[in-house]
Amino acid sequence: MSAVSYADVGGVNVSTWHYIDGARVPSPDSFPVLSPIDQREIAQVASGTAAEVSLAVSAAEAAFDDWAALGARGRAEYLYRLADLIDANVESLAIVECEDAGMMLRPLRAYVAAFGAVNFRAFADMALAQTETGWSYNGSKVRVQRMPAGPVGIITSWNAPIVISTWKLAPALAAGCTVVLKPSEWAPLTCSMIADLAGEAGIPAGVLNVVQGLGREVGEALAADERLTRLSFTGSSRTGRAVGQTAANNMVPCTIEAGGKSPLVVFADADLDAAAKTAAFQYDDAGQMCIAGSRLLVEESVAAEFLTLLGKHTDAHVVGNPRDPETTVPPLIHPDHLARVSGFVERAVAQGDTLLRGGRSLGGLLYEPTLIKPRSNDAEIVQEEVFGPVLTIQTFSDEDEAVRLANSTRYGLAGMVFTRSADRAERVGRAIRSGIVWVNAFNLRDASAPFGGRGMSGVGREGGQYALDFYSDLKALYIKEDTTYED
Ligand code: NAD
Repeated sequence: MSAVSYADVGGVNVSTWHYIDGARVPSPDSFPVLSPIDQREIAQVASGTAAEVSLAVSAAEAAFDDWAALGARGRAEYLYRLADLIDANVESLAIVECEDAGMMLRPLRAYVAAFGAVNFRAFADMALAQTETGWSYNGSKVRVQRMPAGPVGIITSWNAPIVISTWKLAPALAAGCTVVLKPSEWAPLTCSMIADLAGEAGIPAGVLNVVQGLGREVGEALAADERLTRLSFTGSSRTGRAVGQTAANNMVPCTIEAGGKSPLVVFADADLDAAAKTAAFQYDDAGQMCIAGSRLLVEESVAAEFLTLLGKHTDAHVVGNPRDPETTVPPLIHPDHLARVSGFVERAVAQGDTLLRGGRSLGGLLYEPTLIKPRSNDAEIVQEEVFGPVLTIQTFSDEDEAVRLANSTRYGLAGMVFTRSADRAERVGRAIRSGIVWVNAFNLRDASAPFGGRGMSGVGREGGQYALDFYSDLKALYIKEDTTYED
């Protein structure tokens, strides 16, 4: 049994038990949560099993009809209140996310933690703006209705837990679904705080449930629960595949937001300094961003100049403690992840790739910004997601080769293109096969726009109407126009 139901994390009390049917629920076992900052144990969190998952799905099932019946307006009132509470608790959320996930405190305080509120407001607004369409057909009126799908399961990753969990919770709840959320065991604490804030906002018991625990236990049990009507997953491609297989088995629609190996393409006509600055920015958050442009593709004629500029911007990074406002490259999440990242670099060097910069651990879970020139495009370091502060750099001689290299991995989450040519922006932007392309920019995110990947980067789209549709069953309702009804 988790002895203590709360952990003091940087002075903030965080519940370490599950949140099921509006109440805190313990488990016989617990698992330790280590802070990436110093690998100190900051909490013992209830380690759920299939039993707690089943309880939570039952609660979500029981709460569904009333939540659905509230309609978009009724639900929006709750979601706006939750957004206000997130805003009022940004400081606590920022502190805990920094300690728990190792993310940088300054941007968390400035805007990242508040994204939770942004997401709840945006999706409540979008659900309110939805209208039913209808037309006459063959003596009938046909109407397209959106029905909330039912209880849904959401499984999330350890990077950016507030942003990613609310990005999924907000459209699910706004569309009228009830939710069982399983956060990552490596950073489970801010999701627990959001559950408390949902309770404080008056969101009825059972509408939002959080079951903590390990992937192989809670994640698998949640994905397999046949009462769920949708599954939404963010995490690695490998786990995404397993979750997708389970979903297919149960005939449950799923979205899978998985890994990336996105290209950042720099043409000779680009603003090279801006391109190099954006390239160096890919080391932020220690490169633990799914959308990171981790493959730099640079036109041969400007490669030397670009490398110099990239060196200048990389030098400006500060690797260190995420509590320190100067830090831009915080620690990796977990010792296992550090071993994975350094393993990639060691294998690359052993296999004949050239280490241009970095490649060393700096103590604790800190890792140097690293740049590798691969021996070929087939190298593992080019083809596989590292999810750390490790970039590769390759050159191309013309636009065709740039596009061919950009599209040469199994992933397809994002892409960045730097050019001053509007025509090339159109051509290359269209030719890159990924869910998002930014031209002369990075990480612009409009909640109304689709987000997702192709290939090993995932299945389906989140964001805007795409997310609301995912959490809804579409129904065509035909009512004959010339029927005389009798009471
Ligand atoms: P992961 O796949 O190890 O874990 C993700 C979640 O799945 C965790 O909650 C975990 O407990 C759970 N899980 C593990 N095994 C499971 C199983 N067998 N069945 C069901 N659930 C299981 O991923 P991670 O290491 O937490 O996250 C990093 C990955 O997430 C990276 O690949 C990154 O690119 C990706 N990511 C993608 C996006 C996106 O939007 N595309 C966003 C953030 C992170």
